[in-house]
Amino acid sequence: MKIKTLPAEFTPARPILQQIEQAGFEAYFVGGCVRDTILGLPIHDIDIATSAYPAEIKQIFNRTVDTGIEHGTVMILDHGTGYETTTFRTESGYQDFRRPDSVTFVRSLKEDLKRRDFTINALALKEDGEIVDLFDGLGDLKRHLIRAVGEPAERFHEDALRMMRAARFAAKLDFKIDPATLAGISENAPLLKKIAVERIQVEFEKLMLATAASKGLNVMLETDLYRYCPGLDGNWQHLSNLASTNLAMLVNSAQVWGALTYHLGMKYKQLAPFLKKWKLSNDLITVVQHQLPLLNQIMGDQVSTRDLFKAGQEAVTNAAIIAKSCGANLDLVKLERAYQDLPIKTSRELAINGGDLINKLGVKPGPVMGKIINHLVDMVVDGAIANEPDLLMDEAAKFIAQ
Ligand code: ATP
Ligand code: MG
Repeated sequence: MKIKTLPAEFTPARPILQQIEQAGFEAYFVGGCVRDTILGLPIHDIDIATSAYPAEIKQIFNRTVDTGIEHGTVMILDHGTGYETTTFRTESGYQDFRRPDSVTFVRSLKEDLKRRDFTINALALKEDGEIVDLFDGLGDLKRHLIRAVGEPAERFHEDALRMMRAARFAAKLDFKIDPATLAGISENAPLLKKIAVERIQVEFEKLMLATAASKGLNVMLETDLYRYCPGLDGNWQHLSNLASTNLAMLVNSAQVWGALTYHLGMKYKQLAPFLKKWKLSNDLITVVQHQLPLLNQIMGDQVSTRDLFKAGQEAVTNAAIIAKSCGANLDLVKLERAYQDLPIKTSRELAINGGDLINKLGVKPGPVMGKIINHLVDMVVDGAIANEPDLLMDEAAKFIAQ
């Protein structure tokens, strides 16, 4: 098969492939960019594979950077935009179910494509648009199938993360998993225990943010993969409920982890230990913690303006989307407007500050001042008084006199 017109994303990379070919080597676009081109999906990153060894690439081009030379990856800067090329390689060993013991550079495209996870990810595209399809990846793209290259069990023993990737691609592309590959996952799911949580987390998040997230989650349930993810074992029913919500609404990580922990019925205190097990960043954990109270209030249909103020813009949007994805009868526009209509969004927007309280009312800095400010914020947010200096000062004086 030959693609007549390559998407524009490939244009700046074509001179690189041409130059490698002119030097007597082979070079192809490989992996996700080829798959997504055929499916007519947007292309994020362009991967180039070549028969030239890293040292040879560095002789062909003037400006290169060794970005991962031990794996055969060199970045080429000669034509403006930097592109990484990786030498064809085979991997062997895999005694720990995750990383090859050794990587060997080879001259054969076939050997390189053989080590790739799924047939739809094992296509190569020449600079002139010709597709090299050695494992019927094109047929599987047509049939909407995720199928392991070669013997599934063997491939999952080499790298158990591939099982999560199968679920992730099923979710991203809304494809089925080929029966033999699916059986291979069910039989080998416990191998996922050997995989670094960070890698599982990346695939899980991508799965949950994909168009057909529910499908991916159901694959995890059906094959028992979920049991080998941190803190998910024993939660089949909760996860199944989650899979039946409108996961396609979720658009960021905080929403993913918020929806998951909400369905697991987690209390505030349980969030950090659970999310730490998944190796999320502290920043993300804080965001998920911060949005939980509002989510509970929305789900309980009890949201006050103070709750919106406390939550802040980001948490309001996240909690609202999660609630909506769970089927809450909620007017997103109305909630968002209620937030926008708050007279102030932070205590810094109060028309008087600590300095004014010191100067005009002789308040000393400390806990009392904090209490006064909080009281004024509550009054303004409630709409009980307007955010005007004189009114606030009177209210502060009254509060102190109490
Ligand atoms: P995405 O659009 O999500 O980036 P992708 O197919 O490009 O999808 P990557 O994780 O970027 O996925 O990997 C690039 C390519 O490298 C894959 O298409 C596949 O050929 C190969 N690959 C990546 N991870 C593995 C793995 N664990 N086992 C085998 N091959 C892999
Ligand atoms: Mg990619």
